[in-house]
Amino acid sequence: MAANRKVLVLAGDGIGPEVMRQVRRVADWMAKRRSLSFDLSDGLVGGVAYEAHGTPLTDETMQDAIDADAVLLGAVGGPRWDNLPFDKKPERGLLRLRKDMELFANLRPATVFDALVDASSLKSEIVRGLDIMILRELTGGVYFGEPRGITTLPDGTRRGINTQVYTTPEIERVARVGFELAKKRAKKVHSVEKANVMESGVLWREEVQKLRDKDFKDIDLQHMYADNCAMQLVRNPKQFDVIVTDNLFGDILSDCAAMLTGSLGMLPSASLGPADANGRRRAMYEPVHGSAPDIAGKDMANPLAMLLSFAMMLRYSFDLDEDADLIERSVKNVLNSGIRTADIQQPNTARVSTTTMGDAILRELDKLSA
Ligand code: NAD
Repeated sequence: MAANRKVLVLAGDGIGPEVMRQVRRVADWMAKRRSLSFDLSDGLVGGVAYEAHGTPLTDETMQDAIDADAVLLGAVGGPRWDNLPFDKKPERGLLRLRKDMELFANLRPATVFDALVDASSLKSEIVRGLDIMILRELTGGVYFGEPRGITTLPDGTRRGINTQVYTTPEIERVARVGFELAKKRAKKVHSVEKANVMESGVLWREEVQKLRDKDFKDIDLQHMYADNCAMQLVRNPKQFDVIVTDNLFGDILSDCAAMLTGSLGMLPSASLGPADANGRRRAMYEPVHGSAPDIAGKDMANPLAMLLSFAMMLRYSFDLDEDADLIERSVKNVLNSGIRTADIQQPNTARVSTTTMGDAILRELDKLSA
């Protein structure tokens, strides 16, 4: 496989650079011990980009992101930039990346590590061993549909309107990602909508079923209403493998699923764009958490969400499943050994810094590959 896997690293603001540093150490380890080379280049996004260039993302960095095989992003934002005009805010940089890279599929795994099972607000027997993937459509639906806006009616009252709209290609391409994911997992997909009350939901259901019958006959597909899915996620989340759903329901259900795992510092994500003629997809990998200004610069942040995002990059952009497994196993073993950053500390565990957690992961990687 090509030696130069081009990765654009956008560490961003707050704890972004601190957690990204640990990824760099693991990437160096991979180069030395697994002969896996990455061509990592750095760019600026968010508040740091605004400080340097007066904009949260320059056109050049945007082009670098489009040209890269994958983008790794830390986090953006912080109180220092909260009062900037809307188009200068750090978050605009992130939104532009998602939009211009056409990242339509957002993958949010919810995995419960045995050692952290008590961090969930649900009973341990309900979440122990949980490993599900929520796939949210990210560029369509009610957040983007037209018409939208607020108008004043002749009688002086006001009317707010948003439009839920999906087309066959939009549904098909995200469903296809869902089926492909399921192929690598337990071969089970739940497609979630509100076909009982929404025409766009009826279309969603029909198109997903059609695609399954045409191209993915070996996948077990079930349809579920979004309200029932929310209930089932807290009643019996282990019934799911891959959930594929629209932008609005995915927004809500992925946050709900995230909390089954109990810890923001542990949650990775991936966002994928359309495949080109060679099957290469634009892709961005980032932790779910933000820039955590309250702990930034203190070497306290949990780097595991960022490291698990790096593992997702190995798996989904570069087909390096074995190497992704290695990182995930080392995270699991380190947690089992009782080493914790402050956010996931429990009684009788050792509280360590960001850097020390990185040291522990590297030691575990050495052990696993000895
Ligand atoms: P946040 O995720 O940054 O922090 C919420 C809480 O969780 C804080 O107490 C923080 O210390 C803690 N936390 C988060 N990540 C952690 C980690 N890895 N290790 C240990 N503790 C961690 O959310 P917020 O406080 O609402 O937002 C702070 C800033 O981040 C804002 O400017 C917001 O706009 C931005 N933000 C950015 C992203 C992103 O870049 N994708 C996402 C959410 C928020």
